Amino acid sequence: MAKQAPSTQLIHHPYRAPEGWDAVPVPVAKASTVLFKDTADLHKPRPRDGLSYRYGLHGTPTSYTLAARLATLEHAEHCLLVPSGLAAVTLPSLAILRPGDEVLVPDNVYGQNRYLTESWLPQWGVTHRFYDPLKVPDLRANTKLVWLEAAGSITLEFPDLLGTLAACRARGVVTALDNTWGAGLAFNGFEPAPKTHPGLGADIVMQALTKYPSGGADVLMGSVCTRDRKLHDRLNHAHEHLGYGLGQNDVELVLRGLPTMPLRYAAQDRVTRELASWMAGRAEVAQVFHPALPGSPGHENWLAVGGAAAACLFSAVFKPEFSPAQVDAFVDALQLFGIGYSWAGPMSLAVPYDMSRSRNLPLPFNGGTLVRFAIGLEDGNDLKADITQALSALR
Ligand SMILES: *Cc1c(COP(=O)(O)O)cnc(C)c1O
Repeated sequence: MAKQAPSTQLIHHPYRAPEGWDAVPVPVAKASTVLFKDTADLHKPRPRDGLSYRYGLHGTPTSYTLAARLATLEHAEHCLLVPSGLAAVTLPSLAILRPGDEVLVPDNVYGQNRYLTESWLPQWGVTHRFYDPLKVPDLRANTKLVWLEAAGSITLEFPDLLGTLAACRARGVVTALDNTWGAGLAFNGFEPAPKTHPGLGADIVMQALTKYPSGGADVLMGSVCTRDRKLHDRLNHAHEHLGYGLGQNDVELVLRGLPTMPLRYAAQDRVTRELASWMAGRAEVAQVFHPALPGSPGHENWLAVGGAAAACLFSAVFKPEFSPAQVDAFVDALQLFGIGYSWAGPMSLAVPYDMSRSRNLPLPFNGGTLVRFAIGLEDGNDLKADITQALSALR
């Protein structure tokens, strides 16, 4: 072949780095195109199960490694990665539900799951009911999928996981657990061994990796884990058609966050409980929601699944004498707490919620404005001092 121009040589370069590289971090493998050795290799059937490469969209060594580690975290056999926690919510619903099916969703479900169920699924002929997370929902002949979230969003009621999962198993109804709060650490979503073991027997366990596994407030990603091969294949089939790709630098960040996650979870749990109990004793506060606090809705359900670990969230309802504007002034007066969504990152956050428009069933409190606190990694005494000074803005 004639001497090639540098533009060609730079792409078809003969140098290969020596084999034998080994280090703690997983190398970041990026690709759209994945090269085949020859046409015979191209024509070979390739199982779509994380054991072979076809195209960068379906996975690279980096994303397959993260998926395998997350399957271990969740006590699962299979794991699919998706580009957000929300995509991990939409994937099971889109993969499993068919026209005529009914899906049940707890009334305190993550807000975007509510919108998907209410405003998107009906156009595919899928009906829905919202159920009280503290009760076992009644299942109908066409109930296909039941969503669970433990603890639920914003009001943090801890559902009757054992009762609901057992009822669904008995009827062959598919269950999907949003395990973002437990993060794979608070309990095992799969093992059907109630009471003796904090395992639950869900069919699908998804997480917003955006929260604890990332831990940096810098990544959006989700995981969908299963034990059953057929169920995984069904989810994987939808996954391929929906075009859920990932940036491998984001995958790298989650791989980097995983080893410290149990330490972060425990540290944030400790400070969150301290602050939640302290807030519950403040004169300005009517009620505090945190599953580990006796009296918080579903506290007994949390005890029944192990009652050991809890996430970095609590919500405080201010006494009705304080107007929403006064509560906003309190939130604005906070110096260390950012105002913004998401949680489990380094910075503590506080968000006031108007709950009147986001629930179908009665709320677990009467009147008063709710503020959700997400505790970060700051010193607990500094956070307490900040809340104390901001409470003076209430008056
Ligand atoms: C944040 C969150 C999600 C969605 O995650 P994103 O990555 O923000 O899309 C889903 N479920 C729960 C319970 C969450 O807290």
